[in-house]
Amino acid sequence: MWDYLQSALANLSFRLQFVFVFFGLITVLMFFATGRKQLHWDETLKKSGWVNVWLITLNSLAITLPIAATAYALHLLQSLPHLSPLVWNDAPWLVRAFIALLLFDLTNYALHRWMHSNAWSWPLHAVHHSDTDLHFLSANRAHILEWVVVFPITAAVAFFCGLGISDVVFLGLAREAHQYYVHSRLDWDHGPLRHVLASPQFHRWHHVDQAEAHNKNFALFFPFIDLAFGTYYSPHSAKGLPTGFAGNPGENIGKLLLFPFTEWLRLARERFLPQREQSS
Ligand SMILES: [Zn+2]
Ligand SMILES: [Zn+2]
Repeated sequence: MWDYLQSALANLSFRLQFVFVFFGLITVLMFFATGRKQLHWDETLKKSGWVNVWLITLNSLAITLPIAATAYALHLLQSLPHLSPLVWNDAPWLVRAFIALLLFDLTNYALHRWMHSNAWSWPLHAVHHSDTDLHFLSANRAHILEWVVVFPITAAVAFFCGLGISDVVFLGLAREAHQYYVHSRLDWDHGPLRHVLASPQFHRWHHVDQAEAHNKNFALFFPFIDLAFGTYYSPHSAKGLPTGFAGNPGENIGKLLLFPFTEWLRLARERFLPQREQSS
């Protein structure tokens, strides 16, 4: 118990240090890119910021859950044929990093698209989309159960492809840093590189609550994946457009934590109650 508490607190302190460093970096960028006015936090932003800090804290303390699920999944897969890590020994680190990021992004693309299109998996991911005032801290707005699903599957793909723990740590850190950036209020689109590396504009469109933007821009790093699968959408700046979704529980931490369960209950009722009414 004491060991668990120590590792949970160490993880929380690491994550918070990471948040502070990137918060500082992005604040400086925002200041130079958009001026002092953009640094002002109004009441809505403060509310959503606090909810996100709460979610970062709770998720950092509960991270043992997805880690245990990942360890269990990898234990089950050990005996199956997989690429040897030796395959990567001679590859230059840049090539290895690009391949790792691409595999990670392709896996994430499939999972992300599934979570948006399936009524039962959507409640897991919906918490991330519940922010109506998108900003830097929205990057970590997520339900821990989403990580319980995503972590083991992503680690399994890395395992089959011969990638090791150091690659997974690199992917995790690269993802975290880039996610802070794309959720920031910087209105950048990366110009000629807009299809190469995901920009804040590209990801803001993913959050926009308008019919034409729904189910678009699933990639984390590489927008060309969306381009290849016909889900790319970034016609112009998405600044000021509404984000969120219908049925959003809003800035209520309790409702957000319960959201997957209340939604599953609602879906189960919708599916089974009419049959009961018909049969009675
Ligand atoms: Zn999404
Ligand atoms: Zn997002």
